[in-house]
Amino acid sequence: AVPLVVAKSTALSAKNGLLIKNRTAFENSRKISTIVFDKTGTLTVGKFEVSRIVILEEGIKEDSVLRAASALEKNSEHPIATGIMAIVKERAIAVPEANDFQAITGQGVQAKIDGKEVKVVSPGYLKEKDIPLPENFNANENETVVFVIIENHLVGYIALSDMIRPESAEAIKTLHDHKIKAILLTGDNKQVAKSVSDKLGMDGFFAEVLPHQKLEKIKELQEKKEFVAMTGDGVNDAPALAQADVGIAVGSGSDIAAETAGIILVNSNPKDVVSLILFGKATYRKMI
Ligand code: ADP
Ligand code: MG
Repeated sequence: AVPLVVAKSTALSAKNGLLIKNRTAFENSRKISTIVFDKTGTLTVGKFEVSRIVILEEGIKEDSVLRAASALEKNSEHPIATGIMAIVKERAIAVPEANDFQAITGQGVQAKIDGKEVKVVSPGYLKEKDIPLPENFNANENETVVFVIIENHLVGYIALSDMIRPESAEAIKTLHDHKIKAILLTGDNKQVAKSVSDKLGMDGFFAEVLPHQKLEKIKELQEKKEFVAMTGDGVNDAPALAQADVGIAVGSGSDIAAETAGIILVNSNPKDVVSLILFGKATYRKMI
């Protein structure tokens, strides 16, 4: 049977936006020493808006860059894709057909348009493929940038920005009050990661992390004797959520993340992670 205090806390948790799927995860929440937060959708709102379109090849128009990107992004559910499709709709750009669509996990998407190979990818992807960044390339500290490549030519890039959730700073501060560290883990570029981490006063960040590396980062922290919770929303995050001592899925995310995690943040609000830990502590204090 479920002890009464636990049952009560579970009901209280539901009111506070927490769905406890696994009681061990709830029990363990009071022992958390480090929380690893994914960026998009938990600490940030998760709504990307296109802020700039920069042309890198003469004669190409902004709308052509968007048109090529849209043919790929209409197949993707990433928040970046949603942001690009919104401006494409606003500008009433006709979306062309694409074939052979493929996600390049954690780095972008690719497909063929009229037999031509088109990619929309991260700065990290360029680095990995030894493609030099364009000379005049600049990104603001809060811009996420994706490059549009047609047949191995960098034709332009699209800068997007997301907003930090108003509740995030207070959530981090409260965690610190309880001597819990908060670390950012993201596939996004270093400037954005550093900017979010600095603005929220976090204890560090890992940027440009590929999906298979997320799990390794959790292990590294555990090897340093940290008791680690992780929040995540993507299919990509599932292995890391499983590795963490407490896996917390964000409600708006993928089903696979939700299946793997012991706890679900129904409203994707980072403050609810704080409630989880406080409930955990209060519940198990009452029992002993
Ligand atoms: P996170 O979950 O931390 O936002 P992801 O692993 O989902 O990171 O994505 C990492 C990076 O991969 C993005 O910042 C972007 O550069 C690139 N990326 C992922 N999906 C797409 C997409 N659909 N279109 C363009 N770029 C993408
Ligand atoms: Mg993600």
